[in-house]
Amino acid sequence: MLQPIQMRDIKVKDIIIVGGGTSGWMAAIFLLKREVYNVTVIESKKIPTIGVGESTQPAVSSFLDFTGYQQTEWMPRCKATYKTGVMFDGWNPDNQFLVDSESAAFSILDTTEYGSYGTHDAAIATGMTAKDWSNWFPSYRLAMSNLSPKMGKERLNYLNGHTAAPPNAVQWDNVAVIDFLKQECIKLGVTHIVGSVVDANLDKEGYVKELILEDQIENISGDLYIDCSGFNSVLFDLIYQCPWHSVQEFLPTNNAIAIRKKYTNPQQECHPYTKSTAMNSGWMWTIPTYDDLAYGYVYCDKYIDKDDAEKEIRTKINEWDSPAFHVPFQAGTRETISVKNVYAVGLSAGFLEPLEATNLAFTAITIGNLGKLLYETQNMYNESMGSHISRMFSMAVDEIASFIYMHYRMAPKNDTQFWKEIKERPIPDKILPMYNAIKDAPLSQKIFHDMMVKDMPGFRFVEPNAPIFAAGHWWQLMKGFGHYEHLKGQYSDDFIKYSKMVLDVHSSRMDGVLKTFPNHYDFLTEWYESI
Ligand SMILES: Cc1cc2nc3c(=O)[nH]c(=O)nc-3n(C[C@H](O)[C@H](O)[C@H](O)COP(=O)(O)OP(=O)(O)OC[C@H]3O[C@@H](n4cnc5c(N)ncnc54)[C@H](O)[C@@H]3O)c2cc1C
Repeated sequence: MLQPIQMRDIKVKDIIIVGGGTSGWMAAIFLLKREVYNVTVIESKKIPTIGVGESTQPAVSSFLDFTGYQQTEWMPRCKATYKTGVMFDGWNPDNQFLVDSESAAFSILDTTEYGSYGTHDAAIATGMTAKDWSNWFPSYRLAMSNLSPKMGKERLNYLNGHTAAPPNAVQWDNVAVIDFLKQECIKLGVTHIVGSVVDANLDKEGYVKELILEDQIENISGDLYIDCSGFNSVLFDLIYQCPWHSVQEFLPTNNAIAIRKKYTNPQQECHPYTKSTAMNSGWMWTIPTYDDLAYGYVYCDKYIDKDDAEKEIRTKINEWDSPAFHVPFQAGTRETISVKNVYAVGLSAGFLEPLEATNLAFTAITIGNLGKLLYETQNMYNESMGSHISRMFSMAVDEIASFIYMHYRMAPKNDTQFWKEIKERPIPDKILPMYNAIKDAPLSQKIFHDMMVKDMPGFRFVEPNAPIFAAGHWWQLMKGFGHYEHLKGQYSDDFIKYSKMVLDVHSSRMDGVLKTFPNHYDFLTEWYESI
């Protein structure tokens, strides 16, 4: 007879975090705020953090909010700017469009018989083309006018009235973020050790007993260890040799070149969105932080070498002096993010690629899940709990991998070997059901949610996380690429009339917003300089 696996319940008091990048400090601040743990952060001075200017999801702002920091406190210190979404430039040569961060594809009509309808139904019913949709879409109009999505001292949100006030996504400077988080953690009493973890002593059941640091006599021990050591992944890779599951066969980009550039005209250049520009062998991000512009070319080295890639991005942005940072990566994730008494967060847990800027959201979610479960179990940790969180993580990874994949697969751009071949690769089995479900018609939020959050029971009172992107985001992407234009016939004449009226109402409301809301950079400047 099979014996049940013996699991150790660990009473968590001392938490050791390896790594002083964004994920290490995010984990530390969240756990310190609980005021029940002793938290230690060990940070190597030899291994740099990933310091590109970064774009985030609303989940990251919510994380800081939940941790007890208001936007007014952290945004200026993190050199943050608002992000209404990702602007896709050149992916569809006939249409520039935005996938928004705030789910502005709102519901417009509830019916007694047929459920609710959204703005996407109205767009289809009235026969909007991809371009018509962009020109109508409130977030696109705001973004293209370089306006702040907030105004006034109260930071009134342009979207209020449509949805609950959304937690705005931001773009920020990673170095400033780390500095902010570290300073706050020091105030909250973190133990900060500068040193490199080189090995670990395990007990006879394979649990980490203590970490061995280079050039330090004393070893460091705790109850729970969090591996935030980035691509180095010292505990999961070196100590546990936990397999890395590559997804490169369908997400082939494997290098990035990051370059910063000073503003020449910040009122025009500091746009309230992240721009994703299609390039010959990948795509380029443009991320305005408050201080400067961060650019990065994400490419696949099968199609272009690093020198040519650097030449391509420098030519595109006309910047020849600032240093270029080359960052190789391998898209994939760990087989599990929890082994014994060790838990992985950040790049050591996984990294798909920068498109749609999801990694810090993963970080926020995995830390949040750990915190919630520890709270539910009164700080007892065991492997079953770890493996549950690991499954939630895999579900989020599958969601994002499909979403990113669909960007490449469904984009009309098809004029270089990279863009041709990425469309010819076989669709992975995991993605095929979503591909089939969405390629010809949009999904309702309910069907979409059920497909994404499948077979995942809650653990105690902690429910599985909602997908990072909603059905509306998938719609925006597919519509932006020019799909779904054949679907008009399925709506009644009454609904078409109603749709025209609702779209006009929203459009004229937006005309008012465009006249009232301030320039993005000016708004931030007035705010940041008043502090
Ligand atoms: C090219 C690129 C672009 C990206 N763009 C985005 C984006 O737009 N949006 C987004 O959300 N995410 C993005 N990401 C991901 C994001 O950068 C990371 O999620 C984030 O920076 C967190 O990284 P980290 O803390 O896990 O690792 P790192 O920043 O690499 O930090 C690792 C830390 O571990 C320490 N360390 C390593 N080994 C040891 C050891 N043996 N002992 C002690 N300490 C050790 C290092 O010194 C460092 O402090 C991007 C990533 C890449 C590569």
